[in-house]
Amino acid sequence: MIPFNKPYISGKELQYIEDAVARGKLSGNGDYTKKCHTFFEQTYGFSKVLLTTSCTDALEMSAILLDIQPGDEVIMPAYTFVSTANAFVLRGAVIRFVDSRTDHPGMDEVAVENLINENTKAIVVVHYAGVACDMDEVQRIAQKHNVPMVEDAAQAFNATYKGKPLGSFGALSAFSFHETKNIQCGEGGLLVINDETLQARAEIIWEKGTNRSAFFRGEVDKYGWVDIGSSFLPSELNAAYLFAQLEESDRIQEQRKKIWDAYYKALEEWSNELGIQLPVLPEFASNNAHMFYINCRDAMQRTQLITHLKKQNVHAVFHYLSLHESPFYQEKHDGRTLPNSDGYTERLLRLPLYYELDPQPVINALLSYDS
Ligand SMILES: *Cc1c(COP(=O)(O)O)cnc(C)c1O
Repeated sequence: MIPFNKPYISGKELQYIEDAVARGKLSGNGDYTKKCHTFFEQTYGFSKVLLTTSCTDALEMSAILLDIQPGDEVIMPAYTFVSTANAFVLRGAVIRFVDSRTDHPGMDEVAVENLINENTKAIVVVHYAGVACDMDEVQRIAQKHNVPMVEDAAQAFNATYKGKPLGSFGALSAFSFHETKNIQCGEGGLLVINDETLQARAEIIWEKGTNRSAFFRGEVDKYGWVDIGSSFLPSELNAAYLFAQLEESDRIQEQRKKIWDAYYKALEEWSNELGIQLPVLPEFASNNAHMFYINCRDAMQRTQLITHLKKQNVHAVFHYLSLHESPFYQEKHDGRTLPNSDGYTERLLRLPLYYELDPQPVINALLSYDS
Protein backbone atom coordinates (compact mmCIF):
# COMPACT_ATOMS: atom_id res chain seq x y z
CA MET A 1 0.00 0.00 0.00
CA ILE A 2 1.30 3.49 -0.85
CA PRO A 3 0.54 5.43 2.34
CA PHE A 4 -0.87 8.96 2.34
CA ASN A 5 2.08 10.24 4.37
CA LYS A 6 5.43 8.98 5.57
CA PRO A 7 7.43 11.11 8.03
CA TYR A 8 10.86 11.76 6.58
CA ILE A 9 14.20 11.30 8.32
CA SER A 10 16.75 13.56 6.66
CA GLY A 11 19.85 11.98 8.24
CA LYS A 12 21.19 13.63 11.38
CA GLU A 13 18.13 13.45 13.63
CA LEU A 14 19.36 10.58 15.82
CA GLN A 15 22.88 11.99 16.00
CA TYR A 16 21.55 15.33 17.28
CA ILE A 17 19.27 13.59 19.77
CA GLU A 18 22.29 11.65 21.06
CA ASP A 19 24.18 14.90 21.34
CA ALA A 20 21.31 16.52 23.24
CA VAL A 21 21.33 13.58 25.67
CA ALA A 22 25.11 13.89 26.11
CA ARG A 23 24.76 17.59 26.95
CA GLY A 24 22.71 16.55 29.97
CA LYS A 25 19.92 19.10 29.61
CA LEU A 26 16.77 17.74 28.07
CA SER A 27 14.07 20.15 29.20
CA GLY A 28 13.07 23.05 26.97
CA ASN A 29 14.87 26.20 25.83
CA GLY A 30 18.33 24.62 25.57
CA ASP A 31 20.94 24.67 22.80
CA TYR A 32 18.85 22.96 20.11
CA THR A 33 15.82 25.12 20.83
CA LYS A 34 18.05 28.17 20.37
CA LYS A 35 19.47 26.76 17.11
CA CYS A 36 15.92 26.35 15.80
CA HIS A 37 15.01 29.90 16.90
CA THR A 38 18.07 31.28 15.12
CA PHE A 39 17.20 29.39 11.95
CA PHE A 40 13.78 31.05 11.74
CA GLU A 41 15.03 34.48 12.73
CA GLN A 42 17.83 34.42 10.16
CA THR A 43 16.07 32.64 7.30
CA TYR A 44 12.81 34.55 7.41
CA GLY A 45 13.68 37.70 9.30
CA PHE A 46 11.17 37.01 12.12
CA SER A 47 12.05 39.28 15.05
CA LYS A 48 10.93 36.89 17.80
CA VAL A 49 10.00 33.20 17.70
CA LEU A 50 9.28 30.55 20.32
CA LEU A 51 9.31 26.83 19.68
CA THR A 52 6.15 25.17 21.04
CA THR A 53 4.98 21.61 21.54
CA SER A 54 2.50 22.03 18.66
CA CYS A 55 0.86 24.55 16.37
CA THR A 56 -2.23 24.07 18.52
CA ASP A 57 -0.23 25.38 21.48
CA ALA A 58 1.08 28.32 19.46
CA LEU A 59 -2.53 29.21 18.59
CA GLU A 60 -3.56 28.87 22.25
CA MET A 61 -0.73 31.22 23.20
CA SER A 62 -2.02 33.66 20.57
CA ALA A 63 -5.49 33.66 22.10
CA ILE A 64 -4.02 34.34 25.56
CA LEU A 65 -1.73 37.10 24.22
CA LEU A 66 -4.63 38.85 22.49
CA ASP A 67 -6.57 38.76 25.79
CA ILE A 68 -9.56 37.04 24.24
CA GLN A 69 -12.45 37.16 26.74
CA PRO A 70 -15.78 35.28 26.89
CA GLY A 71 -18.13 36.68 24.24
CA ASP A 72 -15.39 38.17 22.06
CA GLU A 73 -15.78 37.35 18.38
CA VAL A 74 -13.05 35.83 16.23
CA ILE A 75 -13.30 35.56 12.44
CA MET A 76 -11.78 32.57 10.62
CA PRO A 77 -12.51 30.17 7.74
CA ALA A 78 -14.89 27.25 8.36
CA TYR A 79 -12.74 25.00 6.21
CA THR A 80 -9.85 24.51 8.63
CA PHE A 81 -8.49 22.24 11.32
CA VAL A 82 -10.21 22.10 14.71
CA SER A 83 -7.29 23.76 16.52
CA THR A 84 -7.69 27.07 14.67
CA ALA A 85 -11.05 27.48 16.39
CA ASN A 86 -10.48 25.53 19.59
CA ALA A 87 -7.62 27.77 20.71
CA PHE A 88 -10.01 30.74 20.84
CA VAL A 89 -13.06 28.80 22.05
CA LEU A 90 -10.98 27.76 25.09
CA ARG A 91 -10.92 31.47 26.07
CA GLY A 92 -14.70 31.75 25.59
CA ALA A 93 -14.68 33.28 22.11
CA VAL A 94 -17.58 33.13 19.68
CA ILE A 95 -16.39 32.02 16.23
CA ARG A 96 -17.69 33.76 13.10
CA PHE A 97 -16.91 31.43 10.21
CA VAL A 98 -16.08 32.67 6.71
CA ASP A 99 -16.78 30.73 3.53
CA SER A 100 -14.00 29.47 1.22
CA ARG A 101 -13.16 31.05 -2.13
CA THR A 102 -14.68 29.45 -5.22
CA ASP A 103 -11.25 28.86 -6.80
CA HIS A 104 -9.44 27.78 -3.63
CA PRO A 105 -10.28 26.28 -0.19
CA GLY A 106 -8.72 29.33 1.50
CA MET A 107 -11.08 31.90 2.97
CA ASP A 108 -12.94 34.45 0.90
CA GLU A 109 -11.03 37.54 2.06
CA VAL A 110 -13.70 39.96 0.83
CA ALA A 111 -16.38 38.29 3.01
CA VAL A 112 -14.40 39.03 6.18
CA GLU A 113 -15.40 42.68 6.39
CA ASN A 114 -19.16 41.94 6.62
CA LEU A 115 -18.58 40.00 9.85
CA ILE A 116 -16.73 42.74 11.71
CA ASN A 117 -18.53 44.46 14.57
CA GLU A 118 -17.59 46.04 17.92
CA ASN A 119 -17.07 42.58 19.48
CA THR A 120 -14.53 41.44 16.88
CA LYS A 121 -11.19 40.83 18.61
CA ALA A 122 -9.20 38.91 15.98
CA ILE A 123 -9.10 37.75 12.36
CA VAL A 124 -7.38 34.40 11.84
CA VAL A 125 -6.23 33.54 8.33
CA VAL A 126 -5.32 29.99 7.34
CA HIS A 127 -2.96 29.49 4.41
CA TYR A 128 -4.56 26.29 3.17
CA ALA A 129 -2.13 23.88 1.46
CA GLY A 130 0.59 26.47 2.11
CA VAL A 131 -1.04 28.81 -0.42
CA ALA A 132 -1.14 32.39 0.80
CA CYS A 133 -4.39 34.22 1.47
CA ASP A 134 -4.57 37.68 -0.10
CA MET A 135 -2.69 39.42 2.67
CA ASP A 136 -3.06 42.94 1.24
CA GLU A 137 -6.83 42.59 1.39
CA VAL A 138 -6.89 41.04 4.88
CA GLN A 139 -4.44 43.61 6.22
CA ARG A 140 -6.48 46.44 4.73
CA ILE A 141 -9.58 45.18 6.58
CA ALA A 142 -7.68 44.47 9.82
CA GLN A 143 -6.08 47.92 9.85
CA LYS A 144 -9.24 49.78 8.88
CA HIS A 145 -11.10 48.24 11.82
CA ASN A 146 -8.10 48.07 14.13
CA VAL A 147 -8.42 44.32 14.71
CA PRO A 148 -5.30 42.16 15.20
CA MET A 149 -4.62 39.46 12.65
CA VAL A 150 -3.24 35.98 13.38
CA GLU A 151 -1.82 33.64 10.73
CA ASP A 152 -2.46 29.93 11.10
CA ALA A 153 0.61 29.10 9.03
CA ALA A 154 0.60 25.42 10.09
CA GLN A 155 0.97 24.30 6.47
CA ALA A 156 2.90 27.32 5.24
CA PHE A 157 6.55 26.51 5.98
CA ASN A 158 8.78 28.34 3.48
CA ALA A 159 5.86 29.83 1.55
CA THR A 160 5.52 33.46 0.51
CA TYR A 161 2.99 36.15 -0.41
CA LYS A 162 4.37 38.51 -3.09
CA GLY A 163 7.83 37.26 -2.15
CA LYS A 164 7.46 37.95 1.58
CA PRO A 165 7.51 34.94 3.98
CA LEU A 166 4.18 33.79 5.37
CA GLY A 167 4.28 34.11 9.13
CA SER A 168 5.57 37.66 8.92
CA PHE A 169 2.18 39.34 8.40
CA GLY A 170 0.21 38.51 11.54
CA ALA A 171 0.62 40.15 14.93
CA LEU A 172 1.16 36.47 15.78
CA SER A 173 1.70 33.47 13.51
CA ALA A 174 1.69 29.74 14.20
CA PHE A 175 3.58 26.99 12.36
CA SER A 176 3.29 23.21 12.77
CA PHE A 177 5.92 20.48 12.74
CA HIS A 178 3.46 17.63 13.10
CA GLU A 179 4.59 14.54 11.21
CA THR A 180 2.19 15.31 8.36
CA LYS A 181 3.84 18.67 7.62
CA ASN A 182 6.80 19.39 5.28
CA ILE A 183 9.30 19.78 8.13
CA GLN A 184 8.47 17.74 11.21
CA CYS A 185 9.52 16.40 14.60
CA GLY A 186 6.51 14.20 15.34
CA GLU A 187 4.68 16.89 17.30
CA GLY A 188 5.95 20.47 17.35
CA GLY A 189 5.16 24.06 16.52
CA LEU A 190 6.40 27.62 16.46
CA LEU A 191 4.92 30.93 17.52
CA VAL A 192 6.14 34.01 15.65
CA ILE A 193 5.60 37.23 17.60
CA ASN A 194 5.76 40.07 15.09
CA ASP A 195 4.01 42.57 17.37
CA GLU A 196 6.84 43.80 19.57
CA THR A 197 4.49 44.86 22.35
CA LEU A 198 3.56 41.18 22.85
CA GLN A 199 7.09 39.71 22.90
CA ALA A 200 7.91 40.00 26.60
CA ARG A 201 4.56 38.56 27.67
CA ALA A 202 4.86 35.74 25.13
CA GLU A 203 8.01 34.48 26.88
CA ILE A 204 6.24 34.53 30.23
CA ILE A 205 3.21 32.61 28.99
CA TRP A 206 5.58 30.14 27.31
CA GLU A 207 7.40 29.54 30.64
CA LYS A 208 4.31 28.62 32.72
CA GLY A 209 3.55 32.22 33.67
CA THR A 210 7.01 32.89 35.13
CA ASN A 211 9.71 35.37 34.15
CA ARG A 212 12.28 32.58 34.02
CA SER A 213 13.65 33.56 30.58
CA ALA A 214 14.35 37.14 31.73
CA PHE A 215 15.97 35.73 34.90
CA PHE A 216 18.38 33.54 32.92
CA ARG A 217 19.35 36.54 30.81
CA GLY A 218 20.13 38.38 34.05
CA GLU A 219 17.41 40.99 33.51
CA VAL A 220 15.71 40.31 36.87
CA ASP A 221 17.36 39.03 40.07
CA LYS A 222 14.73 36.44 40.94
CA TYR A 223 12.01 34.70 39.03
CA GLY A 224 8.46 33.95 40.04
CA TRP A 225 4.83 33.70 39.03
CA VAL A 226 3.88 36.88 37.17
CA ASP A 227 1.04 35.95 34.77
CA ILE A 228 -1.06 33.05 33.49
CA GLY A 229 0.77 30.56 31.30
CA SER A 230 1.34 26.91 30.62
CA SER A 231 3.96 24.38 29.62
CA PHE A 232 4.34 25.35 25.98
CA LEU A 233 8.07 24.50 25.51
CA PRO A 234 9.09 21.32 23.74
CA SER A 235 11.92 19.20 25.13
CA GLU A 236 15.39 19.38 23.64
CA LEU A 237 14.84 15.90 22.14
CA ASN A 238 12.18 17.32 19.84
CA ALA A 239 14.20 20.43 19.07
CA ALA A 240 17.25 18.31 18.16
CA TYR A 241 15.17 16.23 15.75
CA LEU A 242 13.60 19.35 14.26
CA PHE A 243 16.93 21.10 13.77
CA ALA A 244 18.21 18.21 11.63
CA GLN A 245 15.21 18.73 9.34
CA LEU A 246 15.60 22.50 9.20
CA GLU A 247 19.22 22.10 8.08
CA GLU A 248 17.99 19.98 5.15
CA SER A 249 14.90 22.01 4.39
CA ASP A 250 16.04 23.22 0.94
CA ARG A 251 16.52 19.66 -0.23
CA ILE A 252 13.22 18.54 1.29
CA GLN A 253 11.33 21.41 -0.32
CA GLU A 254 12.92 20.83 -3.72
CA GLN A 255 11.99 17.15 -3.70
CA ARG A 256 8.39 17.81 -2.65
CA LYS A 257 8.08 20.43 -5.38
CA LYS A 258 9.25 17.88 -7.98
CA ILE A 259 6.55 15.43 -6.91
CA TRP A 260 3.91 18.18 -6.93
CA ASP A 261 4.90 19.27 -10.44
CA ALA A 262 4.88 15.66 -11.67
CA TYR A 263 1.30 15.25 -10.41
CA TYR A 264 0.15 18.49 -11.98
CA LYS A 265 1.62 17.79 -15.38
CA ALA A 266 0.41 14.18 -15.55
CA LEU A 267 -3.12 14.96 -14.39
CA GLU A 268 -3.98 18.07 -16.40
CA GLU A 269 -5.70 16.40 -19.35
CA TRP A 270 -7.26 13.61 -17.29
CA SER A 271 -8.78 16.05 -14.82
CA ASN A 272 -10.23 18.22 -17.59
CA GLU A 273 -11.96 15.26 -19.14
CA LEU A 274 -13.53 14.16 -15.85
CA GLY A 275 -14.60 17.57 -14.57
CA ILE A 276 -12.00 17.41 -11.78
CA GLN A 277 -10.26 20.62 -10.69
CA LEU A 278 -6.52 20.75 -10.02
CA PRO A 279 -5.15 23.20 -7.42
CA VAL A 280 -5.24 26.88 -8.39
CA LEU A 281 -2.32 29.07 -7.32
CA PRO A 282 -3.00 32.81 -7.24
CA GLU A 283 -0.11 34.76 -8.76
CA PHE A 284 0.73 36.39 -5.41
CA ALA A 285 1.34 32.98 -3.79
CA SER A 286 4.37 30.70 -3.99
CA ASN A 287 3.99 26.93 -3.91
CA ASN A 288 5.61 25.15 -0.93
CA ALA A 289 4.33 21.77 -2.13
CA HIS A 290 2.71 20.98 1.19
CA MET A 291 -0.23 19.23 -0.37
CA PHE A 292 -1.54 17.99 -3.70
CA TYR A 293 -5.32 17.94 -3.70
CA ILE A 294 -7.88 17.52 -6.42
CA ASN A 295 -11.45 18.78 -6.29
CA CYS A 296 -13.84 16.15 -7.64
CA ARG A 297 -16.98 16.85 -9.70
CA ASP A 298 -19.23 15.63 -6.88
CA ALA A 299 -19.24 13.57 -3.70
CA MET A 300 -20.02 10.36 -5.56
CA GLN A 301 -17.05 10.70 -7.87
CA ARG A 302 -14.80 11.24 -4.85
CA THR A 303 -16.11 8.12 -3.12
CA GLN A 304 -15.58 6.07 -6.28
CA LEU A 305 -12.10 7.44 -6.72
CA ILE A 306 -11.09 6.63 -3.13
CA THR A 307 -12.33 3.06 -3.61
CA HIS A 308 -10.65 2.77 -7.00
CA LEU A 309 -7.33 3.97 -5.59
CA LYS A 310 -7.58 1.67 -2.59
CA LYS A 311 -7.95 -1.31 -4.95
CA GLN A 312 -4.71 -0.17 -6.59
CA ASN A 313 -3.03 0.10 -3.19
CA VAL A 314 -3.04 3.89 -3.01
CA HIS A 315 -4.26 5.64 0.11
CA ALA A 316 -5.87 9.00 -0.77
CA VAL A 317 -7.81 10.91 1.88
CA PHE A 318 -10.37 13.69 2.09
CA HIS A 319 -9.84 16.59 4.45
CA TYR A 320 -11.81 18.86 6.78
CA LEU A 321 -15.44 18.61 7.69
CA SER A 322 -16.49 22.29 7.78
CA LEU A 323 -16.35 23.42 11.40
CA HIS A 324 -19.69 25.26 11.26
CA GLU A 325 -21.30 21.86 10.71
CA SER A 326 -19.27 19.99 13.32
CA PRO A 327 -21.11 18.19 16.14
CA PHE A 328 -19.52 20.60 18.63
CA TYR A 329 -20.19 23.92 16.90
CA GLN A 330 -23.28 23.38 14.74
CA GLU A 331 -25.67 24.66 17.44
CA LYS A 332 -23.45 27.64 18.22
CA HIS A 333 -22.98 28.72 14.60
CA ASP A 334 -24.90 31.82 13.53
CA GLY A 335 -26.77 29.89 10.84
CA ARG A 336 -25.27 31.37 7.68
CA THR A 337 -24.80 28.83 4.89
CA LEU A 338 -21.23 28.43 3.63
CA PRO A 339 -21.64 26.61 0.30
CA ASN A 340 -18.04 26.75 -0.92
CA SER A 341 -16.71 25.34 2.33
CA ASP A 342 -19.35 22.57 2.16
CA GLY A 343 -18.24 21.89 -1.41
CA TYR A 344 -14.64 21.26 -0.36
CA THR A 345 -15.88 19.11 2.53
CA GLU A 346 -17.65 16.89 -0.01
CA ARG A 347 -15.33 16.92 -3.00
CA LEU A 348 -11.70 17.59 -2.04
CA LEU A 349 -9.29 14.63 -2.15
CA ARG A 350 -5.63 14.67 -1.09
CA LEU A 351 -3.06 12.50 -2.84
CA PRO A 352 0.01 10.91 -1.17
CA LEU A 353 2.88 13.42 -0.98
CA TYR A 354 6.09 12.77 0.95
CA TYR A 355 9.80 12.99 0.27
CA GLU A 356 10.38 9.34 -0.64
CA LEU A 357 7.28 8.97 -2.80
CA ASP A 358 7.52 7.84 -6.39
CA PRO A 359 4.38 9.52 -7.77
CA GLN A 360 4.23 7.40 -10.94
CA PRO A 361 2.24 4.44 -9.51
CA VAL A 362 -0.23 6.92 -8.00
CA ILE A 363 -0.52 8.71 -11.34
CA ASN A 364 -1.06 5.40 -13.15
CA ALA A 365 -3.76 4.43 -10.68
CA LEU A 366 -5.52 7.78 -11.19
CA LEU A 367 -5.29 7.65 -14.98
CA SER A 368 -6.93 4.22 -14.99
CA TYR A 369 -10.07 5.81 -13.49
CA ASP A 370 -12.24 7.21 -16.25
CA SER A 371 -15.79 7.98 -15.10
C1 LIG B 1 -1.72 20.76 11.26
C2 LIG B 1 -2.59 21.95 11.49
C3 LIG B 1 -2.82 22.49 12.76
C4 LIG B 1 -2.39 21.80 14.03
O1 LIG B 1 -1.03 21.60 14.12
P1 LIG B 1 -0.46 20.74 15.35
O2 LIG B 1 1.01 21.04 15.29
O3 LIG B 1 -0.80 19.32 15.07
O4 LIG B 1 -1.09 21.24 16.59
C5 LIG B 1 -3.54 23.65 12.88
N1 LIG B 1 -4.03 24.28 11.80
C6 LIG B 1 -3.86 23.80 10.56
C7 LIG B 1 -4.41 24.55 9.39
C8 LIG B 1 -3.14 22.61 10.36
O5 LIG B 1 -2.97 22.13 9.12
